[in-house]
Amino acid sequence: MRKGDEYLASLRDDREIYLDGSLVPDVTGHPAFAPVARTVAELYDLAADPLTDMTYVAPETSREANRVFAIPRSRDELAARRHAIEIWARHTHGWVGRGPDHVGAFLAGFASCPGAFAAGPRDLAANVSAHYRRLLDESLFVTYAIIPPQFSRAGTAHGWDDEFIQVGVVAERPAGLVVRGAQMLATGAAVADEILVSCIKPLTDQDRDFAVSFLLPLATDGMRLHCRRSYATGATSGYDYPLSSRYDETDALVVFDDVLVPWDRVFVDRDVAGLRRQFFDTGAHVLGNSQAQIRFVAKLRFILGLARKIAAVNETDRIPGVQEKLGELASLASVVESAVLAAEYRAAPDGNGMWRPDPRALYGAMGLQAELYPRVLAIVRDLAGGGVLQLPASVRDMAAPGIRGDLDRYVRSPGVAAEDRVKLFKLVWDAVGSEFAGRHHQYEMFYAGAPFVAKGYAYRNYGYEQAVADVEEFLASYSID
Ligand SMILES: Cc1cc2nc3c(=O)[nH]c(=O)nc-3n(C[C@H](O)[C@H](O)[C@H](O)COP(=O)(O)OP(=O)(O)OC[C@H]3O[C@@H](n4cnc5c(N)ncnc54)[C@H](O)[C@@H]3O)c2cc1C
Repeated sequence: MRKGDEYLASLRDDREIYLDGSLVPDVTGHPAFAPVARTVAELYDLAADPLTDMTYVAPETSREANRVFAIPRSRDELAARRHAIEIWARHTHGWVGRGPDHVGAFLAGFASCPGAFAAGPRDLAANVSAHYRRLLDESLFVTYAIIPPQFSRAGTAHGWDDEFIQVGVVAERPAGLVVRGAQMLATGAAVADEILVSCIKPLTDQDRDFAVSFLLPLATDGMRLHCRRSYATGATSGYDYPLSSRYDETDALVVFDDVLVPWDRVFVDRDVAGLRRQFFDTGAHVLGNSQAQIRFVAKLRFILGLARKIAAVNETDRIPGVQEKLGELASLASVVESAVLAAEYRAAPDGNGMWRPDPRALYGAMGLQAELYPRVLAIVRDLAGGGVLQLPASVRDMAAPGIRGDLDRYVRSPGVAAEDRVKLFKLVWDAVGSEFAGRHHQYEMFYAGAPFVAKGYAYRNYGYEQAVADVEEFLASYSID
């Protein structure tokens, strides 16, 4: 199994990453990227530790692989996969959305159904299977950029001013496809091994050139990442910003400047229907998003723990109104956890023998996420009050003898020393109020598509037959007479 150090060493390549006006020479040595790379390295070390029991013998390779990448072929395998994902999610407490297990699950879904990639103008199924085997053998960290850049949402790529704002095929060569344009918003790409580039937004028949799917190493000629502002570099210390300083995954616009994609890395070639087959016929979308919900459960539990501790430290937990707020948080977290378990309980094998988590339960939870997460944050802010601002500017105040006296005397609670109180409330601020927290607010609302998209999945996957039949049966039981 891949070790953390091996992963870090593999990041030292020719990837073209831009931040604050400069090319980043080595992400593992840069303050914006090194912390999250270290966190991912810890995940690899966890998976390699026999005590975590995260490995299995993959039938596709007959070799040991990480269970987070498995194609589940029974309910037990689905549960074992969840346990492995939970181990990683607990390590980051859900604050890393795009660990290697997210897109890895999409690739497992793709590989479960090679036929979906053989049904287009060109049979590309062997590429998908070969790269899945590589994922299993090498424990790759693959991320993705599958959304067109925000240019105009009134139409699709073929109608945009410049033909290639969204990434598309400009030429075909004997060696592969030449692609040009951009795609948003690749989380974790700066510290990933490879990137899956595709489009999940619906396209029209006129968008054929943009209907592609391919996998590239981050160090590919002509591919560049333009990263958003780093929150890790603004974290003055681990005590002041305990989350920003470890888990800032980074997000980036990915630009393709006439990049050659070798044929063996192409999954979908100018095939609009092929994109839908890729994400939805294969079951990749449910498998990938079940990972996301398992991760979300760990995060909600962590935030719930923060809320409970705020109420205990401030001694508000004796107040019935506060208990009600804690109860609402408990309800929200339990609903998501229950949906994850229900999706597993009601899972069933698809035509390819992959056990798919139940889409009704899974998309039901996802459809609520854009309201649920902001509500969770609002309750924690409500409970925290000004405590998240009645704080010294930085850890340096805690170390300054002339200042520390006041802090020890006035910034404490019964039985809780200043150092611990400040530590807790700084963590709370990084979870609900810092720039890192603001990005997480946006992430939970948008990572799987805009809220209207997530609700669309819930609408299409509920299965209204029984509900409508129940109403019709009731309507038939009485009449105007
Ligand atoms: C922090 C973060 C990380 C992300 N990471 C990744 C990643 O790793 N990989 C990746 O591929 N993508 C990623 N995304 C992108 C994400 O997938 C998109 O944000 C998402 O698909 C929504 O697209 P959009 O942002 O362009 O919003 P838009 O589609 O522009 O929608 C924005 C809003 O406009 C309105 N609207 C637009 N169209 C309609 C419509 N047809 N009907 C009704 N209302 C409409 C709605 O109010 C909607 O919420 C990330 C996003 C965020 C915020």
